[in-house]
Amino acid sequence: MFYIANENDIRTGRVTDVYFERGEKILKAKGLSKHVSMEIRTKGLPAKWEWAVFSGLEEVIELLKDKPVSVRAIPEGTAFAAYDPVMEVEGNYVDFGLYETEILGLICQASGIATNAARVKIAAGFKPVFSFGARRMHPAIAPMIERSAYVGGCDGVSGVIDAEKIGLKPVGTVPHAFILLVGDTVKASLYFDEIIEKDVPRLMLIDTFNDEKFEAINVAAALKDKLYGIRFDTPGSRRGNMGQIVKETKWELELRGYGNVRIMVSGGLDEDKVRELQEVVDLFGVGTYISNSPVVDFAMDIVEIDHKPYAKRGKESGRKTLLKCERCGERTVSVYPANIKNCRKCGGTLEELMKPVIINGKVTVDLPSAGKIRDYTMSEIKNIKKA
Ligand SMILES: [Zn+2]
Repeated sequence: MFYIANENDIRTGRVTDVYFERGEKILKAKGLSKHVSMEIRTKGLPAKWEWAVFSGLEEVIELLKDKPVSVRAIPEGTAFAAYDPVMEVEGNYVDFGLYETEILGLICQASGIATNAARVKIAAGFKPVFSFGARRMHPAIAPMIERSAYVGGCDGVSGVIDAEKIGLKPVGTVPHAFILLVGDTVKASLYFDEIIEKDVPRLMLIDTFNDEKFEAINVAAALKDKLYGIRFDTPGSRRGNMGQIVKETKWELELRGYGNVRIMVSGGLDEDKVRELQEVVDLFGVGTYISNSPVVDFAMDIVEIDHKPYAKRGKESGRKTLLKCERCGERTVSVYPANIKNCRKCGGTLEELMKPVIINGKVTVDLPSAGKIRDYTMSEIKNIKKA
C-alpha cells in the first residue's frame, strides 16, 4: 500500500493529532461548545528569513468550505513577517478544532517552498528559474510542492501532473539515460529535434560524455537556429569554476555565430550558487533547495472566546488584522476591526490585507489562478529585492 492519506481522510479530519479528538470528546460530553476566534501566525521564520511568502490558502478553503466556520486570510503570495497574523478561523470550537493539524500542515510547508522559490528568483536577478525537485519528495505531494514553487516565483515546473494541475506545460529536456542509450550527444539532439513536438524548445544536455565547451559547439553546429539553449547539469566532482566554464562556452559559441544559445545550469543549486552564476547564466533549474524548503512554523491559537479577548500565556488576545500601506508597503498589525487609517511611516492610506474568504461555510472570494498569485508574489518581492 501507499502510506498516504486520501482526500476523504483529510476532509473528515482523520489526519489530526489524537489530543484534538480527546479534547473534542470531553467538550461535547460536557456541553462546553463555545464560539472562538483562532489566529494563525508564526513567532519566528526559519533560516534567518526576514520575510516569507504565504501559500496554501486555496487548500485550506477547500478543507473548510461547507463547514460552519468563517475565515479571514491574507492573499496567497503576500510577503509577511514573524508575528503578522495571516489567517483567522472563527466558529464553535468543537466544529473545527479537530482540523488544526491539517490547516497548519496545508500552509506551513507550502509557504516555506514559496518563500525559497521567491528567494531563488531574487538571487537569479529575476531570470527564469525552473523547479526540478519533485523527485526528492513523496510523489503524493508533488502537485502541492510544484504549485508552491510556481506561485513563489518559479517560471515553470518539470512534473507532468504538477504542471497540468496549475494550467502549465511541463518544462524539461531529456534524461542523461536517454543520451547514454543513444550513445552520442549530437545524435541524441538530432533525434530529439526529429521526434519531439516543434513547440518544445530545443534545450540540450551537453555534459554527458565530454567537455561542455566542445559538446556545446557540436550540438550548436548540428541544430543551428533551432537550438534554443544548452543545459549544464555537470556533476560536482567535475565542476571546478562553473561560472568560468559557462563564460568560456558562451565565448566559443558567440565566436561561431551561436550567440543566441541560452545557457541553463542545474544540479545542486541553492540561492548562493544561483547568485554567483546570475550574471553569466540565462536559466536555472533548481531541485531540492526549493522542494525541501524549511517549513514556516505557524501556530493556531485562541484569541477570543464568546466574543471576549482571551488567550494563553505568551499570546496577545483579541482579533487582529494585517494592514498594508498603499504608498510605501509598510505592514501594520492592528486590532480587528482596524482602528488606524494611516501609515506611521509615510502617512499613506492603509488597506486591509486580511479579508474574509469563507463566511459561515460559504466561500466569498473567486480563487485566483496560480498564475495570478504568482504575478502578485512578484509585485510583493520586487519591493523587497534582496533575499
Ligand atoms: Zn507608508
